[in-house]
Amino acid sequence: MTVNRRRFLKLSATAAAMTAFGGLGCQHTAPAVDRATMLKPEWTKQTTTICCYCAVGCGLIVNTSLKTKKAVNVEGDPDHPVNEGSLCAKGASIYQLAENERRPEGPLYRAPFSKEFKQVSWKWALEQIAHRVKKSRDETFAVKNDKGQTVNRTEGIASLGSAALDNEECWAFQTMLRSLGLVYIEHQARI
Ligand code: SF4
Repeated sequence: MTVNRRRFLKLSATAAAMTAFGGLGCQHTAPAVDRATMLKPEWTKQTTTICCYCAVGCGLIVNTSLKTKKAVNVEGDPDHPVNEGSLCAKGASIYQLAENERRPEGPLYRAPFSKEFKQVSWKWALEQIAHRVKKSRDETFAVKNDKGQTVNRTEGIASLGSAALDNEECWAFQTMLRSLGLVYIEHQARI
């Protein structure tokens, strides 16, 4: 039997209770709470990830409904060495990043000099982004700098975002940006 941190705590709690109450002649000990079972009802899939909000990097356990594919619960991972199950208030509400009825359900576009955002299709938005990224990159890409050193970069595009990405999404996003040659990359989680 493997004894991970969660099971170790469970066994330790049971042993401590038996020691404490055994000395008093108490015959019944309260069973330790099995959080693993509580966190994993049969209708959800359980995965782990890292909180995206700040550099502390707390570990999270995410339960996703097998029926709706939506996150139904996120909480601190007691096995994670950074936070040992605890989360700050912001991290504790992180499931709202994915499941929030106040989030826009599609891309919004504000034309130059317009004051209004209008709803556009994903197809239109993605094509516009692709065309504009390619145009800007082609016009600004530099193979060498003023000293003749090879740099292969573009200074004509910058990226700011995104606090709503989780750790794995940030990795994929960074990979794409670096492969395009971007050097101005920032993450605004704590702005
Ligand atoms: S839970 Fe709070 S402290 Fe932990 S990484 Fe997220 S924002 Fe930072």
